[in-house]
Amino acid sequence: MADTVSPRPLRRRRMAILVAALAAVTALACWGAYRWAEAEARAALTLNGDLRLGLYASSIRNAVGRYDYLPFLLARDHEVLDLLDAPSDLRRDAVNRRLETANAAAGSAALYVVDRSGLALAASNWADPAQSFIGHTYDFRPYFRQAVETGSGRYFGIGVTTGLPGYFLSHAVRQGETLTGVAVVKIDLEPVQRDWAAGGERVLVTDENGIVFLSSHAEWKYRALRPLPGAVTDRLAQTRQYDRSDLPPLGLHDGPLMENGARLVSLPISGPEASRRAFLMQELALPEFGWTIRFLSDLEPVKAEATGAAILTAMGILLLAAATALGWQRRQTLRLQREARVTLERRVEERTAELLTANRILRDAQEELVQAGKLAALGQMSAALAHEINQPLAAIRTFVASTRLLAERGETAMVRDNLAMIGDLAERMALLSGHLKEFARKGPARVEAVPVARAMDRALALLASRLREEEVQVDRSIPPDARVRGDAVRLEQVFVNLLRNAADAMEGSGDRRLTLTATRNAEGWEIRIRDTGTGIAEAHQFQLFDPFFTTKEVGQGLGLGLSLSYGIVRDFGGTLRAENNPEGGACFVVQLPEAQ
Ligand code: ADP
Repeated sequence: MADTVSPRPLRRRRMAILVAALAAVTALACWGAYRWAEAEARAALTLNGDLRLGLYASSIRNAVGRYDYLPFLLARDHEVLDLLDAPSDLRRDAVNRRLETANAAAGSAALYVVDRSGLALAASNWADPAQSFIGHTYDFRPYFRQAVETGSGRYFGIGVTTGLPGYFLSHAVRQGETLTGVAVVKIDLEPVQRDWAAGGERVLVTDENGIVFLSSHAEWKYRALRPLPGAVTDRLAQTRQYDRSDLPPLGLHDGPLMENGARLVSLPISGPEASRRAFLMQELALPEFGWTIRFLSDLEPVKAEATGAAILTAMGILLLAAATALGWQRRQTLRLQREARVTLERRVEERTAELLTANRILRDAQEELVQAGKLAALGQMSAALAHEINQPLAAIRTFVASTRLLAERGETAMVRDNLAMIGDLAERMALLSGHLKEFARKGPARVEAVPVARAMDRALALLASRLREEEVQVDRSIPPDARVRGDAVRLEQVFVNLLRNAADAMEGSGDRRLTLTATRNAEGWEIRIRDTGTGIAEAHQFQLFDPFFTTKEVGQGLGLGLSLSYGIVRDFGGTLRAENNPEGGACFVVQLPEAQ
């Protein structure tokens, strides 16, 4: 109840606080979910990146390792040794052909032999004058220098003759202790790179200076990961490693270092809207080459996944909040219903109590009316009663006088007879006054077994003088076993009312006859009081039982008799109704339950 009566502004403020709290909790949970999902997705990316890096490293190692032995074998070949020892056209031809077949069989880009000054003497591509290495000097190339100094060399660079990039492996050719030349194999790494590009992944390989020379994306190639120092630029120009002067920086921006050595970076993405994109960059060093492989994972899916998790969390929380609110509202409704029920029950109880009180008052009033009705009947009967009592009184007086005479004469037998007569008369008067006393008695109704015949006898006795005077013929047919549930005095009162009404109705009739019957039926006993009077006018049919309805002259009737009789019969569980006889006159039917 507290909620429904609390003032509106207070409720609104409470609601606002609740909404704010919900928003804060949702925001916090979303943020948490976002961070968690982001970390999870990034961890998965990192794991994948590590695997890919391992795979790329071995693909590079395989591509190079396959040709490792070639310069070594060439350095021991007799024809090569002979050519370097004493060059001649014949020997050069022989070596050229030999290199050509070997190159074709091995699948390398080129095989060639240079003398100690760096001049190429024989090459697998001798037959193609435009591409052939023969006659070119390569003494400036690091792989040549490395072989001269340490016995072998390896180097990545763009071919100065062909313009094609390649990995060069070199080995020194010695005649005893003296260096006579260098054998070189050039390996094409483009196929490896093509495989990466086909996979749709972002891979780049940098040399020791941080210059990208292999990449899944062509636009990143021959660019510096970070701006190059001047000394490095100079050295590159000297070795003509990448056969170009400018190596523009890639524009990579370093972000924070993540778990497992991965780093967040951003790169400019060429496209319709030149913008930067965030990547997770992982590295793997290839120490034997001095290179580093870098793998870039796109962070967009991570963001999308994290956003999805945040949205899902928000939806979950809001759903939960909605469910809670719904549950709360339902509980509230149930509580209100319960309260309403309790209030209703209380009201019903109050009304019932009021009705009971009203009923008691009505009952009291009815008692009063019964009493009033009785008194009215008594008043009407008093004249007849006076007449009824006067007769035996006069007789008694006569008997007393004659008895006195007889006593003086000593006629004892006659005196005894007279006294018996007087006793009989006194008995009759006592009976009459007893009935009257009973009738006038005021008191609550009792429920008892009432013999119908006896109640009818008493009612007739009270009206005896009137019926006799008006020469009313009474036909009775009431079985002695007719016993109904009720109060003897009340039932008597009902009969007196009905008989008196009948007598009233027959006052002007030529034939005055009362037919009193009692028959058993399913509901108990049906008592009929039939007269040969005026009958009931149709207009009065529905008013008969109304209090104070009367057609009699003022002073003759109160209009209470039938209404009281109706109430009494109903109180005993019975009914009272009126009919007209087909041959004239009215019939009042009292239906009462049989007494057990
Ligand atoms: P009261 O007798 O004082 O008029 P009642 O309630 O006993 O009051 O009767 C109401 C009216 O019903 C009577 O005035 C009369 O018109 C009508 N009535 C009652 N009994 C009979 C009857 N047996 N025959 C015709 N009319 C009757």
